[in-house]
Amino acid sequence: MDKQELQKIKEKALKEHIPIIMDDTLEVVAKILQEKRPTRILEIGTAVGYSAMCFSEYLAENGVIDTIERDEQRVTQAKENIKKVEVEEKINIYEGDAVELLPTFQETYDIVFIDAAKGKYPFFLKEAMRMLKPDGIILADNILYKGYVLSDYNLHKQRTAVRNLREYIKETTENPDLETQILEVGDGLAISRLKNKNE
Ligand code: SAH
Ligand code: MG
Repeated sequence: MDKQELQKIKEKALKEHIPIIMDDTLEVVAKILQEKRPTRILEIGTAVGYSAMCFSEYLAENGVIDTIERDEQRVTQAKENIKKVEVEEKINIYEGDAVELLPTFQETYDIVFIDAAKGKYPFFLKEAMRMLKPDGIILADNILYKGYVLSDYNLHKQRTAVRNLREYIKETTENPDLETQILEVGDGLAISRLKNKNE
């Protein structure tokens, strides 16, 4: 992987206000991936491919990342970027709305990284659970959404997003099959591990 190119892509994305994964969040995710060495990762929300490229370093041999993005221009940029960084063999980019695409996916995944429309997190969770391997982990970025999720803040524009993020937290923490942690790194990260049923 070309780290220098990756750094350039990161800087350009930040300059263009593309909401790429924050450094402290990446640090936590990287640790999880390093331990797990996943064979398959599903990412919902590619943007320009930054997080997928970072994650690709931690894949098992022959591992792959499937990632979904609905914005055509970002898909084009992401495809250019994965070539530049020389990780195109490890990353499959699917163009379209994840709400429509996910139900057509039949793979199973070690890790699902949710990082797209906040109002759809409960739906993404349902799809992630359907495709998660028995010892899989679901990660959800921006789960605290600038702190709105834990406050009584109810600004009209963000109301649907906040309600759905709260629902995501409730569902993952109350599901007896999951072990969930909510971390205040970056914009908030939810980590949900599927529990071994024999424990
Ligand atoms: N994971 C990226 C950042 C993703 S930003 C990184 O850390 O580098 C969120 C992206 O999700 C945006 O590019 C947005 O266009 C996309 N998105 C939002 N809702 C979506 C949906 N329903 N289906 C597919 N992509 C979606
Ligand atoms: Mg994010």
